[in-house]
Amino acid sequence: MRHSLIQRIQRILILIGFIIILAIGLVGARWAGFGLPGLDGLAPQGVNPAAFNQSVVLISGHAGFDSGAVCEDADGAITLREADVNAEIARLTAARLRRAGADVTVMQEYDARLEGLQADVLLSLHADSCIEASGYKAAVSEERTTTAGDNRLLQCIDRYYVGATGLPAHPNSVTHDMTQYHAFRRIAPTTPAAILELGFLGGDNALLTRSPQLAAKGVTDALLCFFDDDLFLATPDPAG
Ligand SMILES: [Zn+2]
Repeated sequence: MRHSLIQRIQRILILIGFIIILAIGLVGARWAGFGLPGLDGLAPQGVNPAAFNQSVVLISGHAGFDSGAVCEDADGAITLREADVNAEIARLTAARLRRAGADVTVMQEYDARLEGLQADVLLSLHADSCIEASGYKAAVSEERTTTAGDNRLLQCIDRYYVGATGLPAHPNSVTHDMTQYHAFRRIAPTTPAAILELGFLGGDNALLTRSPQLAAKGVTDALLCFFDDDLFLATPDPAG
């Protein structure tokens, strides 16, 4: 009688122990980014210690100001606004970066907080016009004197945004609007900064509107590369 009771308790304790070990394993795997993929097919963003407490400012291009580039149908009705595309990708990017451990603020185009802004990095997200061209491009200030951080950011974008999206570079269309971007002159000179045109609303419509999470992953990976020397020195996986 007594013996069978002890056996029963033993079995229950073994079962509880097994459940605890399973739970620890699942939580640990999710923490490291090995959770079940979401509906978009991407694994959830894992924690990256290099991103801890890093202050990231994203500008949601045109937010609070105008709609940016627009696409129109044959009747002249607007079918797509750049500002909406930028806002969605900024939102998704902020969520991924926060999961990685960064401290993220999404700002409007002419946010008052940009004046003298001190942050670990600033990236402004825009998209290009509605023509049937394809490709991304990034630019940093042509006027600033502290450029090491800016250049590292550009290198990370060139490697990791391409890695996640498969988009080609479209460098020939970098304009003075980009290299003399207003925010570059307003933020503190010590804040590394770049502006990224995520793709064309026309030729890259499918990526920007139907797979914005891919673009957000590309931006996130580029910013994590900026903080993490291992990623900076590594070779990113090719897209797909
Ligand atoms: Zn724009």
